[in-house]
Amino acid sequence: MQLEQTYAGTFPDLAVQAHPDIPAQSRVSWVNEPLAQDLGLDAEWLASAEGLKWLTGQKEAEPGEDAGSSYALAYSGFQFGHLSPVLGDGRAHLIGELPVADAHTPDILSHRVDLHLKGSGRTPFSRPGSDGKAPLSAVWREVIIGEFFAAMNVPTSRALAVIETGETVRRRSPLPEPAAIVVRVASSHIRVGTFQYAQMNMPIDQRKRLVDYALERHFPHLKTQEHALEESSSALTLLQAVAEKQADLVAQWMGLGFIHGVLNTDNVLVSGESIDFGPCAFVDEFRMNAVFSSIDRQGRYAFGNQPGITQWNLARFAESLLDLMAENPNDAVDDATAVLAAFDERFQERWVQIFAAKLGVSVENISTAHREQLKTFIGQTLTLLEKHSLDFTEFFYTLTHTPEQISLLSGEDSAEELMDWLSELMEFRGVTGTAEAVSRSLMEGANPLYIPRNMRVDAALREVEKGNSEPVERLLDALRQPMTRRDGLEDLETAPDNSRFFTSFCG
Ligand code: AMP
Ligand code: MG
Ligand code: MG
Repeated sequence: MQLEQTYAGTFPDLAVQAHPDIPAQSRVSWVNEPLAQDLGLDAEWLASAEGLKWLTGQKEAEPGEDAGSSYALAYSGFQFGHLSPVLGDGRAHLIGELPVADAHTPDILSHRVDLHLKGSGRTPFSRPGSDGKAPLSAVWREVIIGEFFAAMNVPTSRALAVIETGETVRRRSPLPEPAAIVVRVASSHIRVGTFQYAQMNMPIDQRKRLVDYALERHFPHLKTQEHALEESSSALTLLQAVAEKQADLVAQWMGLGFIHGVLNTDNVLVSGESIDFGPCAFVDEFRMNAVFSSIDRQGRYAFGNQPGITQWNLARFAESLLDLMAENPNDAVDDATAVLAAFDERFQERWVQIFAAKLGVSVENISTAHREQLKTFIGQTLTLLEKHSLDFTEFFYTLTHTPEQISLLSGEDSAEELMDWLSELMEFRGVTGTAEAVSRSLMEGANPLYIPRNMRVDAALREVEKGNSEPVERLLDALRQPMTRRDGLEDLETAPDNSRFFTSFCG
């Protein structure tokens, strides 16, 4: 299967040739079968020695033939609010772009996907002292979160394969842990930070080309629409499209209690897919300001801050496009400001829609007045969860399947309040004319039983480090069908008591 390099070929300033470090003893230890199938790839072949070569770009060339190249991509990033002008792939390599036939890709956003390695060795972008590697546990976290999101229809990058390299890395513990490489698939690796890098390093015509490339690759329908429009509107069209995707994405994250943990602009894809599952976590006992990441001391990326931070990231994106958006800088600023306001509106709308579904309320024919009331009610619901330390996922799953038991989720002192809340909800369903069957199917589609609970994931990762992959495979089985209760998976339904003290770390 031939891989292409349209991005690296078009933008030499954004891609530096770099060879992945694939130790001789490397082997493909896991292949994502459903994803392989969606991409038209043979999972068994991918796991073979030849498959390994293909996945890692180790093509053997005939004399005189080009062996093809892998690239480390350049990008900048606002990290915790501060600009790092040169970040780039410090331990990752773009192997190539795989063209995908439509028939194979009902769930994939674009007609070509990047095959990208992470943990594949140092590159010209590696910082001094960094090892360019990834721990096996971090690689499996990428697998687990991506598969859960895919099952929940949340746009996401996904792991296609895990390669165990036989090497070790040192991270938190003085003891070495096994290293691995994840083969990641995303509809591209063009980030908000890519445009920041382009602004500082590329001539204007190349930056315009980058805008067009991103539009063509991720929003081809818009590209044809604005064909007739002036050139200057391409950048604005891209900004609008990315803002919409990001509004939808962050609303979906909020509906699942997901906390990304490092929402720096280098971790925000213009395609609107989730990427980089380092110190991410899911809230168990609900807290709006939940933070689990050891590096997020100020709580910048706390659960409830994510919409505002995404808007902030989009403001930085807008700044990197301003001079391309309009001749007159004042017009560009006005346009960008309008997009950021529209982001907020769209996020609120999606957020209400998602939580309405979680509550079994249809918003299809809802009046403006009821929508406002609903918004208030959702806020009150979250306050109630927080007040009584209720588990976010368990609460909504119980509401879906055994609502009469909702008052048993917490201590006796809260039972009455929860029953009052439930009757208010019932009333709400009534005034919005939501039929019972509709209510049920909305909730069944929105409220999973199994989520990647922090401490369950952690426990499974500790096992895979020791060479036992059974727990991660079991977790994956649960998460790929997250709505359906199955016997023997009871431990995955709940969080351990000490889960609020969980801390997450970067891989
Ligand atoms: P991340 O936190 O994964 O988004 O990475 C932020 C930046 O640090 C990127 O430029 C990465 O390539 C780089 N980086 C992270 N870990 C390593 C590592 N072990 N070796 C080299 N570069 C790294
Ligand atoms: Mg990153
Ligand atoms: Mg990371």
